[in-house]
Formats: sequence, C-alpha cells, structure tokens
Amino acid sequence: MVKRMRLNKILYFGDFVLCPAAAFGLLLLTLLQHDATAAGIWAMAFVLGCIGWTFVEYAVHRWVYHAVPFFDRMHDAHHQEPKGMIGAPSFLSVGVIFLVFYLPLYFASQAFAGGFTSGILLGYVAYMLVHHASHHWSPQPGSLLYRLRLAHMVHHYRGEEGNYGVVTSFWDHIFSTYVEPQRRRAS
Ligand SMILES: [Zn+2]
Ligand SMILES: [Zn+2]
Repeated sequence: MVKRMRLNKILYFGDFVLCPAAAFGLLLLTLLQHDATAAGIWAMAFVLGCIGWTFVEYAVHRWVYHAVPFFDRMHDAHHQEPKGMIGAPSFLSVGVIFLVFYLPLYFASQAFAGGFTSGILLGYVAYMLVHHASHHWSPQPGSLLYRLRLAHMVHHYRGEEGNYGVVTSFWDHIFSTYVEPQRRRAS
C-alpha cells in the first residue's frame, strides 16, 4: 500500500512563507554584524546556493525519490495523484535544509553558511512554485513556465525515466536524461 503524505494547506503552502522568512533572517544575522566583507561573502554564497539548488533538486529527485525504496513509495503517491497536496511538510523541509547545509557550513563561516542556505531555500521555493504551477496552472504557450511544465509532464506520463529537473533542464542535459516533450528519448 502506498504511503501518502497528504498535507493540509498550511503544511503544503507553508514553505512559500517559511523559506523566504528564514532566508531573510539569515541575511539580517549577517547584516547586523556591520561587516562589509561578511556581507560580500553572504551575497556570493547566496548565488552559489541558488545554482547549487538546481543540482540538489535533480539529485534528490533522481537518486532518492526514484531510487531509495522508502522515499520512492512516498514520491509514487505524487505520481499517482499529481494534483494532490502531497509532499514533505514545511517544517520538515526547512529543518532538513538547515541540518544538511547550514550546520556543517556554519563552522567554516557563518556568512557563507547563511548565504548558501538562503540560496538553497529560495531555490526550493522556486521549485515548489514551478512544480505547483506545472500541475495546477495553464501557463501561456511559449513562456518559460510552459516549457518547464511540458518537461515535467513528460516525467509524469512517459515512464518517469527522464526530466528530473523542475526549475531547469540543465542537469538532465548533463546526465543525458532529458526527454524532448514532443519526441520520445532514443535509448
Ligand atoms: Zn518523480
Ligand atoms: Zn509532479
């Protein structure tokens, strides 16, 4: 039997508020130090975090959600019911992001840890937004969101062997898992 992590609206949409709020808190922590170097490190780490997110998204979706049995079963619930409010509850995702990124990096540099974690948090929000839009909105044909949606629909309805990226197809191209929406992937 498939285990479903069905969420209420607060837990489902909570990330849209929690993640930017946490990122803002991390920015404040650095700005309050009144140290220009620390602020510069924060900004640089933020950009790296945003870029880093795109790989995290790809790696978790491909090598955890579609590979590790426990997570595979939970993710399968989303595949079976794409429009359902199914996923990780807000406090859990934010907690995991802090544990995996902020905590280890904190010991190297608080500003770097704050910036990088904020980039990851905003990347995660972008992922949530694009993913939600892919299943619930009808974006303008030709728009970026429309193309991202098409790619994600291929992931859902063509055997799930490709298009693991949601906010970008970059890593799918790197790892040869990109499936053209109009054509099937030659294998
Ligand atoms: Zn999937
Ligand atoms: Zn989906």
